[in-house]
Formats: sequence, C-alpha cells, structure tokens
Amino acid sequence: MAKNGDRCPICGEGHLTVQVDKHPVEYKGVSESLDSYYSVCDACGSEQADAAQTRDNKRLMVAFKKRVDGLLAGAELRERRERLNLTQKQAAQVFGGGPVAFSKYEADDVAQSAAMDKLLRVASEVPGAGAWLIRKAGLGPAVAPVEWKDASNWSPQREREPGERPVELRNVVDFPLQPQDASSGYQSSGWKTPAPEAFSHG
Ligand SMILES: [Zn+2]
Repeated sequence: MAKNGDRCPICGEGHLTVQVDKHPVEYKGVSESLDSYYSVCDACGSEQADAAQTRDNKRLMVAFKKRVDGLLAGAELRERRERLNLTQKQAAQVFGGGPVAFSKYEADDVAQSAAMDKLLRVASEVPGAGAWLIRKAGLGPAVAPVEWKDASNWSPQREREPGERPVELRNVVDFPLQPQDASSGYQSSGWKTPAPEAFSHG
C-alpha cells in the first residue's frame, strides 16, 4: 500500500499523498457512496492506485454488491465458520469450493453464490445441520457450538405412532454374488440366481 511521501512511480520525482474519496456506485438500482483509495503526486499531479489500493477498492465494491444481494458479508461468514470450529480449508471440504474459496469470501474478494450462502446459514443456524454436514465430509466428530447444547433433545425424526414399526435400513442385495472371470464382464448371463436351497438354513 502506498504511503505518504513515497516517490511517484510515474514521474520518478514527485512524492505521493494518499487520498480517500467518496465514490458513488450503483448496483441493481441501489446507490451508495463507497470509499475509494488512491494517491496523488505533488509533481506530475497524476492520480494513481497501486495494487493494494486497487484490491481494497474492489473489496469495498464486492462487499456493497453482497449487501444489495442479501448475502453474508465476509466478516459474518468468517464468524459463522469459526462458530462451526472449521478452518477455511475444512470449510471448503464441508461446503464445497476450492481450497482458497473461504479466504476469498471472507476477504470480500469474491461473493459466495446464493446457494453457498443459504447452506452456510442452515449449517450455522439449524441445530444439528452443521454437525451433520461436517460428519458427512469425514471431519467428525463435530464439536457442537456452545449455544446448541440446549438443543440436545432435537431429532430430525418424527415421533413414531404407538405400535408403528421403526424404520430400518436394510441391505437390499441379499443374494450371494457369483464370482466372474475377467473375460465375462458384467453381462446378465454371467449372473446366476441362487437355487432356493441356497437360502435354506435347515
Ligand atoms: Zn509524479
């Protein structure tokens, strides 16, 4: 980031003064005035933004668009990720995105998709949802955030009616598979239905 007194990279003689102006922007019919960072040279008079100033200006614009679109701000997103006890890399494993996706969302370099935004809200607001997603990503056992402790009796399954049988998962492949040689492939002729006595236990 340019500092006051830095030599001007354009004329090589003057010195820079860092400026912050208000810059009017509009997005989807919403107008706002954003800070805009740049420097002015006292010799050649050129106005210039270095890489860091350009990056900061872009982040302010991305953050403004997120506000208009109703998406979580970078800082809010970070707070929710930390509440789920996830690193940025782990968060990408749980919610999708590349290894640097959350770094970019949280710095307001990039806006998360509406779908990602909704998923993060569900994971951080619905008791059990975040823990379930974390377990599905193989990162369990998840540590439930403190404020979820009073939701320990919450269950995704409804109460059973009196006399109703519990729903059980069962293995539908209950016949023995026949070994095949490599040349036969997986053609139906290669499969044999077991004789009835194969199921007999007596
Ligand atoms: Zn200059």
